[in-house]
Amino acid sequence: MDGKERSRDSVLPDVQWPATCYHSFIVARVKLEEAYPKIAFRWRSRNWWARLTRVPPECEHLEHGVEWMATYAPDTLYLRGKASLRRRPARPEVSLCRACLLSELETELSGYRGRVVAFEPDGAVFTQYFFVGVEEFIAAGLLPDVAAAISRRLDQPAGDCDVCDAPASWLWLSREQVESLDEVPRIAMARGEPLCARHGAQKFCATLTNVSEANLFYMNSPYGESGAYLWI
Ligand SMILES: [Zn+2]
Ligand SMILES: [Zn+2]
Repeated sequence: MDGKERSRDSVLPDVQWPATCYHSFIVARVKLEEAYPKIAFRWRSRNWWARLTRVPPECEHLEHGVEWMATYAPDTLYLRGKASLRRRPARPEVSLCRACLLSELETELSGYRGRVVAFEPDGAVFTQYFFVGVEEFIAAGLLPDVAAAISRRLDQPAGDCDVCDAPASWLWLSREQVESLDEVPRIAMARGEPLCARHGAQKFCATLTNVSEANLFYMNSPYGESGAYLWI
């Protein structure tokens, strides 16, 4: 342990950290470079002050424009504001431009072997776009009939990918077919677009590419056996 590391740790007990901050400070042990080897981060967003105030490290592109940025916390699920980790050790929370975010997400999503129901977000108003595992639907605040309708779609045979005929694991629900989570009958009945993991990932990234400006406060990556990508 070097001198800097020691002095930071010795400061911790004297500071009134909110419980979740203190928690993630202690457990977020994957180093930035190991978690995101392809991304270059701004030095200024990585100094001691940024760490102390818990400003997430920013990719270097955000230095020249912030019309599109997202806070990416791949392994953290926020249930009604409380953080819980879906993988340990967790990768740190970071702020990314669209290109850096999509390069991370495309790899992550096409490698996910579980089932996904993904709702196309309204690009003009969404501020968060995140995955919730089927076990956490109610804890995340979904109404019981909405949770039941999505769960049923996840249990149905997925068929073949619309693009390549490989077995589908995604069901993409466009806003034309399901505009909001209030539309339970549509969630239950809409045909949707069955996609394999690779084409599901491409669809997801293409949708975000078409949003010209965004400031997303929270995105994560899929975990567990199945779940849904929701937006608010
Ligand atoms: Zn970037
Ligand atoms: Zn496919």
